[in-house]
Amino acid sequence: MMEQRQSDVLIVGGGIIGLAIALELRQQGATVTLLSRDFAEAASHAAAGMLAPNAEGIPPGPMLDLCLASLKRYPDWVAKLEALTGQSVGYWPSGILAPLTSIPGNSQPVQAGEWLDVNTIRYYQPGLGQVVQGGYWFPEDGQVNNQALAEVLRSAVIDLGVVVHEGVGATALHQQQGRIERVSTAREGEFSAEHVILAAGAWSYELLPVPVFPKKGEMASLRVPVGYGTSQPLQRVLFGENIYIVPRQDGRIVLGATSQEVGFTPGNTAAGVNQLLANAIALLPELADFTLEQTWWGYRPATPDEWPLLGPAPAENLTLATGHYRNGILLAPITAHLVSQSLIGKAAPLLNAFSWERFRSPTAFSLPATPAAVSLPTSTMTLLNSASTSEVGTPMATAPLNGGSATFADQPLTIAGRTFTSRLMTGTGKYSDFDTMRQSIAASGCEIVTVAVRRVQTNAPGHEGLAEALDWAKIWMLPNTAGCQTAEEAIRVARLGREMAKLLGQKDNNFVKLEVIPDAKYLLPDPLGTLQAAEQLVKEGFAVLPYINADPLLAKRLEEVGCATVMPLGSPIGSGQGIRNSANIQIIIENATVPVVVDAGIGTPSEAAAAMEMGADALLINTAIAKATDPVAMGRAMGLATIAGRLAYHAGRIPVRETASASSPLTGQVRE
Ligand SMILES: Cc1cc2nc3c(=O)[nH]c(=O)nc-3n(C[C@H](O)[C@H](O)[C@H](O)COP(=O)(O)OP(=O)(O)OC[C@H]3O[C@@H](n4cnc5c(N)ncnc54)[C@H](O)[C@@H]3O)c2cc1C
Repeated sequence: MMEQRQSDVLIVGGGIIGLAIALELRQQGATVTLLSRDFAEAASHAAAGMLAPNAEGIPPGPMLDLCLASLKRYPDWVAKLEALTGQSVGYWPSGILAPLTSIPGNSQPVQAGEWLDVNTIRYYQPGLGQVVQGGYWFPEDGQVNNQALAEVLRSAVIDLGVVVHEGVGATALHQQQGRIERVSTAREGEFSAEHVILAAGAWSYELLPVPVFPKKGEMASLRVPVGYGTSQPLQRVLFGENIYIVPRQDGRIVLGATSQEVGFTPGNTAAGVNQLLANAIALLPELADFTLEQTWWGYRPATPDEWPLLGPAPAENLTLATGHYRNGILLAPITAHLVSQSLIGKAAPLLNAFSWERFRSPTAFSLPATPAAVSLPTSTMTLLNSASTSEVGTPMATAPLNGGSATFADQPLTIAGRTFTSRLMTGTGKYSDFDTMRQSIAASGCEIVTVAVRRVQTNAPGHEGLAEALDWAKIWMLPNTAGCQTAEEAIRVARLGREMAKLLGQKDNNFVKLEVIPDAKYLLPDPLGTLQAAEQLVKEGFAVLPYINADPLLAKRLEEVGCATVMPLGSPIGSGQGIRNSANIQIIIENATVPVVVDAGIGTPSEAAAAMEMGADALLINTAIAKATDPVAMGRAMGLATIAGRLAYHAGRIPVRETASASSPLTGQVRE
């Protein structure tokens, strides 16, 4: 093993957020190491650099407070930076003009904005298109040249002695007893630090199950043509309804941005660039004659509520500084300040609103729970008694559960940034009818149901109308590639699955359960085909949940290529043989940093509980429920077993002893 590097603080991610924090901490005297997988891929370069809390129309509340506090810090922050490096970051408090194509019902000033009628706005910006009917003027907003800022920040931190490892990606945060003990990398071995900060932008969920996901934005830039008469006809940012136009002092004009949920799909698209140019020309027609200089794209680190995740994380010495979505350039100074203060024990109250804990409540982020027999609040797991489970309506459902007060703090199951209360997934195959399927799924309490894309698409027997038979507003669909024998087929079917989920109302569902199974007798997955398909699908922005043999090395490789979980089989699909390979599954569990979902082979609730007791993060069970004599009762039993196993795993089993140990004390006995 390579030597372990040690510092006070280790920052994972070298975009504007990681760099700004590094600068602040180094200036406070800390030794800082920064891992930067790829400086060029950072959203920080792709951004438009607007400092626009007012034009963005952020409603009053903690987010607006945070943005305004950061805007206020900007002048001093950049002045310090420029003094340190002698380089300009192009900070320009130009104000932002927000033209509108219709007059709002109530044309009173909004926030810090001043309403301008159609004549006045044309005075502020000559040449506006005929579509413009008036607009707001936000004099306090501005912009910075974010590309220059990223470069200058980087040279500043290096000059000050921050050790920057460029091209080095963290591959895992190793947690022990509630602390990050070390951070491994693919190229440079292991690093450790008193404190670790996760600032990996849209990629943060690869290291920690936080609800951060990429929202792609395409951008373009124009240049004022030679001989135009002025080097920059625009003196303020134009923040239109579907386009922003950002003039730089060097004659460049930046146009942005599209907003696409396509995962990490690289490249500019014809439609994206067309949209930018058409909207820009409609707003300012003279741009039609300007030179198209460059197009590019980037990934905003989005969160479900569009607020960042800041401050303490689930491990004692880990801090989050991620999820800045569309305001990360604006929020860099305040993030650096608050995070570095919190590290020295001076956490500001403002941080509380941005804690990751806001996503721990099941209602806050996960899909609404099914009318399940047993639901697990994520912060406190409570076994409910029969009174709360009567909805299921089966004889088994009313059986009392004694000892209903067991509680412990549990984390939600988080896969690719999405959290789930239930740790049981089920399927839709092999049920006698849809009604039984619906009831069994509800009784199991599961929130994720896998669906065979191919069979639904081809209306295979038993699958006609299946996709419509479930309420996808309540259940998260896990499209699977069952029936695919090669990687190529699986990739094609995964894409169809994504479309299917969209059609059924889950627009942001990028999950796929990857199955590449060439063998019909044992239905064992092809490891090479699975790895090959997984690599491609991850590149296309899928959250890949690969079904694999319980091979620890394959599991690790799949994790390294970016899979969201690994799903080792317990024994062949539908065989009901239980967990036949527990030693290997145990190794996978011990080494995984993504959730391990035991899939296939489980035949009884005791086997389900056993898999959870081993430390599996979740289970996928279909045949054992669908083919049981009473599928609804079995669904409920499997749901309860999953909970029982999870409780037991956390409760910690007693050691196995070779000899007996009396349950009652041996002292104080009555003797004859
Ligand atoms: C098109 C577009 C327009 C935008 N416009 C604006 C704007 O006008 N104003 C504004 O305020 N904000 C804007 N934003 C948002 C802003 O760019 C982001 O919020 C901000 O850049 C996030 O910074 P970051 O440092 O968190 O992430 P990033 O800048 O994305 O940097 C993350 C870095 O972490 C690295 N990394 C990832 N994983 C690892 C790992 N495992 N190990 C080591 N390193 C890793 C990556 O390689 C990357 O370099 C825009 C974003 C986009 C995409």
